[in-house]
Amino acid sequence: MKITVAKNSGFCFGVKRAYDLACVNSKNCDELYIFGKLVHNDDVCRDLKRRGIKEIKSLGAAKNGTVIFTAHGIGPDAYEKAQSRGMRIIDTTCPKVMKAQRLAKNYAGKNYRVIVFGDKNHTEVKSILKWSENRAIVVGSLERAKKLRIDKRKKYRLISQTTQNVKEFENVKKYFAGKLPDFECFNTICDSTDNRQNEIRKLAKANDAVTVIGGRDSANSKRLYEIAKAINPKTYFIENARQLKKSWFGDIKKVAVSAGASTPKWVINEVISRIGKSQKG
Ligand code: SF4
Repeated sequence: MKITVAKNSGFCFGVKRAYDLACVNSKNCDELYIFGKLVHNDDVCRDLKRRGIKEIKSLGAAKNGTVIFTAHGIGPDAYEKAQSRGMRIIDTTCPKVMKAQRLAKNYAGKNYRVIVFGDKNHTEVKSILKWSENRAIVVGSLERAKKLRIDKRKKYRLISQTTQNVKEFENVKKYFAGKLPDFECFNTICDSTDNRQNEIRKLAKANDAVTVIGGRDSANSKRLYEIAKAINPKTYFIENARQLKKSWFGDIKKVAVSAGASTPKWVINEVISRIGKSQKG
């Protein structure tokens, strides 16, 4: 069986930077906390715990010490709270997320209607909303966009969660561009997401089966799975090698392996090795 591993798989620039900063600081900080999950991947979270980094859901749960803010970004209230508690902050917010936050802050501050194309429950989108002082509006799909009540006297600006589907974003943009007299769009979808999605489309067509590796709460991994599954029905979503089933590869000659931006290399390597062994014996 031929196994093709997507070139764009595993940690993206933003996640690698956040993970490396967490690891380096774990060696010289006594009280090191991480506010929320560094990434939506249980293997990575367990690894950080082993390094002595404590995951907290509220800053009130931390003794004074150092707190890591994750690549997904955080609202301004968290910076204020950490500072008022005398905590040192290691801010690993991805610069690309920061760009979306700044656009939301600037345009909402000038009384524009800011629309965020994204998942309203995702940490990144919540942070963008907070920077807009909760004035931005989130739409998760073209259907939702069509239901939005429009005020033609207002100026509208559209941005996106960095890990959204590029094609769906284009559809939403086209819809608003045809409806709103004063409209501008900023494509804040990350190149890394775009490249992964383009690559998996090609791989899903060229292979008999596809395996996507990612955490169950990882938005970008799920998106890869959905794209591949729509093209190739033999697409499987797993978190790690333990979830692979031998039966998936019985008559398969070519399989593609891709992984979300929060999947570590060691998990990808285990999956490749296990798939390689699945037709033996
Ligand atoms: S997917 Fe892109 S925006 Fe998100 S953390 Fe990675 S590099 Fe940054």
